Amino acid sequence: MAIPGTTIQHLSMPTAPRPITSRHVAVIGAGAAGLVAARELRREGHSVVVFERDDQVGGTWVYTPAVESDLLGVDPSRRTVHTSLYHSLRTNLPRESMGFRDYPFVFKDDADRDPRRFPGHREVLAYLKDFTREFGIGELVRFDSEVARVRIVEGSKWEVKSFERGKDETVLGEIFDAVVVCNGHYTEPRIAEIPGMNKWPGKQMHSHNYRVPEPFRDQVVVLIGSSASAVDISRDIAVVAKEVHVAARTVGNGSFGKQPGYDNMWLHPMIERVCEDGSVHFQDGSIILANVILHCTGYKYYFPFLETNGILTVEDNRVGPLYKHIFSPVLGPWLSFVGLPWKVIPFPLVELQSKWIAGVLSNRVSLPSEEEMMEDVEAFYASLEASGTPKRYTHNMGASQGLWSDFLLDVAFQFEYNNWLAAHSGCPPIEEWRIQMYYATGKNRLARPESYRDEWEDDHLVLQAREDFINYTT
Ligand code: FAD
Repeated sequence: MAIPGTTIQHLSMPTAPRPITSRHVAVIGAGAAGLVAARELRREGHSVVVFERDDQVGGTWVYTPAVESDLLGVDPSRRTVHTSLYHSLRTNLPRESMGFRDYPFVFKDDADRDPRRFPGHREVLAYLKDFTREFGIGELVRFDSEVARVRIVEGSKWEVKSFERGKDETVLGEIFDAVVVCNGHYTEPRIAEIPGMNKWPGKQMHSHNYRVPEPFRDQVVVLIGSSASAVDISRDIAVVAKEVHVAARTVGNGSFGKQPGYDNMWLHPMIERVCEDGSVHFQDGSIILANVILHCTGYKYYFPFLETNGILTVEDNRVGPLYKHIFSPVLGPWLSFVGLPWKVIPFPLVELQSKWIAGVLSNRVSLPSEEEMMEDVEAFYASLEASGTPKRYTHNMGASQGLWSDFLLDVAFQFEYNNWLAAHSGCPPIEEWRIQMYYATGKNRLARPESYRDEWEDDHLVLQAREDFINYTT
């Protein structure tokens, strides 16, 4: 589709310095990314409207027992649910490292709050609501407002069409200088392709629709994947299921076979095929009869509202071309993405991305030319190809192509990226204690997969973090 009345030249970023300017900016989504983007944009002097289709802030952290009408998540007309949280979920990062840099995620002495270092999901939602209140972001958010379409119109402005959920769904079109996309990327399931899966008679579902273990009581369950969710969910289900079989590409710290500490959990290599008689055949030749296959196989980036005339695409889960995972070289600063990187500490990363975007939009910070940005992107893609990294790992900031067990390798990329953003936005680099804490947590999780949330050895880093927090909490 052509972009009406617009040429590529109109959209390029001018290279000469320009006066500081306030823009009218649409932010899509009021999860952690959208909230901090709104704060940074307003701090920079922009006027902001945050579109949020839910009736509250928090995004992923708004737990609901509701699941989708298609549990596997492949039917495009299914009733969708945003969150992928399960009832028992506790954070996999300690609260000190997880919080925004200038709004520490410290325990509030209140009966309703969760004091644990790795708290349950309700505590994270409460923290995001505190953040929203503290910075008065709620007044910028238009709740129950779903963005249906975003496209460039005459004069390189953006038209954002939205409708009010649950009302007559009349579509409202508004014009903005820039759009910041913060719609999250843990909602659209990615499914493992297994020979025979269409005729396999058991129940199949994606971890997006897992909430509680009870429906799996006395069942034989096969989980595919080795992500954080697969590790948590397999343990959740093992309490009630007859047998739990995890099919994974790698074994992490352990080994294939019966898992220590469990009399009903086995680790297998990947599934080779499944058959109409209900059997599941693993690559090591073992065969079981199962009731359920649970795909813990990750998610796809999905922007159903975005029309860019093919300038931006999602190919094999690469959103691109994007300069520093944020700006399209062709569209310049007028469209940006917050929160695409994964295998990261999300909150401080989206905070830094938002500061950079806000500064670029006001002209306080300049972007390289379209050609320079494209060269940078092409060099990045070439480096991925040279190292044999598949496209779908483009936004993976861990060194390890998404494997949970290789967590220890994951330190470098995200912090290098954070520090690049910090330097280009005029902020101090990422705190040394946060880097060391991320590393220590990864190590601890490998050593104590069952108990890392309650036993640790990095109290000295907690003390350093608290010293740092005094700057923001007094
Ligand atoms: P989201 O939180 O998904 O927010 C996106 C928002 O956009 C939602 O509110 C949604 O309603 C809205 N939206 C989407 N489309 C539209 C539209 N068309 N119009 C209007 N609004 C729209 N991170 C950690 O730091 N620690 C953890 O322990 C941790 N555990 C996790 C466990 C699970 C199971 C999952 C799935 C994620 C976990 N994360 C964790 C990562 C988590 O996703 C991030 O912490 C963070 O919540 C991402 O925020 P976001 O704003 O990018 O996306």
